[in-house]
Amino acid sequence: MKISITKTTTPSTMPPEDKLGFGKVFTDHMLIVDWTESEGWKDARIVPFGRISLHPASTVLHYGAEIFEGLKAYRRADGGVQLFRPMENIKRMNRSAERMSLPEMDEQDMLKLLTTFVKLEEKWVPKSFGTSLYLRPFMFGDDEALGVHAVKRATFMIIASPSGSYYKEGINPVSIMIEGEDVRTVRGGTGYAKCGGNYAASTRAGERAAKKGYSQVLWLDGVERKYIEEVGAMNVMFKINGEIVTPELTGSILPGITRKSCIEVLKSLGYKVSERLLSVDELVDAMKSGALEEAWGCGTAAVVSPIGKLAYGDNEYVIGGGKIGEVTQKLYDILTGIQWGKVEDTFNWVYKL
Ligand SMILES: *Cc1c(COP(=O)(O)O)cnc(C)c1O
Repeated sequence: MKISITKTTTPSTMPPEDKLGFGKVFTDHMLIVDWTESEGWKDARIVPFGRISLHPASTVLHYGAEIFEGLKAYRRADGGVQLFRPMENIKRMNRSAERMSLPEMDEQDMLKLLTTFVKLEEKWVPKSFGTSLYLRPFMFGDDEALGVHAVKRATFMIIASPSGSYYKEGINPVSIMIEGEDVRTVRGGTGYAKCGGNYAASTRAGERAAKKGYSQVLWLDGVERKYIEEVGAMNVMFKINGEIVTPELTGSILPGITRKSCIEVLKSLGYKVSERLLSVDELVDAMKSGALEEAWGCGTAAVVSPIGKLAYGDNEYVIGGGKIGEVTQKLYDILTGIQWGKVEDTFNWVYKL
């Protein structure tokens, strides 16, 4: 795949690293690739960052044909830049595309788009530990007609946003509310795809929880409203009686790369990890008896996020004394150590640029 590059004539500078926040500042350029049913992927180009124009009948605006990915470029202590398991994001993007009837892309082509773009924007990868250049590849259907069918035109893009440390004030455990009303998705639906629609449908519950003082919701399965699925935009893990339990991938859960990496790290450390159905009743019993030792969410943004409090109905349970647990801390240290190049990558996960 050939990529043409048009550089900006008005480059901007990065705000101070402790003022970055998340997803508010964007780099100088963006990458765009067009797709049509008859010609396939074509005209890959990196151009100055700016607005894009869409036909008012564009598929994405009416029928929500949109998928995305999220990964980070990390600055190592030696000054180099690296990605974390990018092929996992690329494969997942293609699985999401298949589910949403959007076009798939050759894995090596997508890797080349990603690495070419990050290399061009290298100066935007911040330097302090915990900060990163957040990369957002996304794709949307772009037919200029209102008929409902698999799209005949699509656009793939990558934008990037330098992001501050998620834990500027230290790793504070969060309060989570088990959501009993809305569901995120159902088996057979789009839960395993990283698509915008899943987020549009789950925002309401998140806002309601925020009003009650909880930072995110814990979703139950959409069929029986009985089994734990995931937390907001993170997967979830529990330590119950010494064993690590995480919901199995039934199709309605997003298969997180952090989840997969946590499982591999935990197994390498000798922990027993069960991917299985976990009912909310079992979890409540474990909280009441004290068998639940730790709970945490895991995802690219936070890496791991300890859960200090969990509410279900009118009851609220404190987990691990409301403090970060030993396993959660260990996972944080190992994963961030590998990502920022501070500890040896014995798993062969980093991709150096
Ligand atoms: C992206 C995402 C995750 C976490 O996946 P990672 O690959 O670990 O970042 C979990 N749940 C949802 C709903 C997501 O969109």
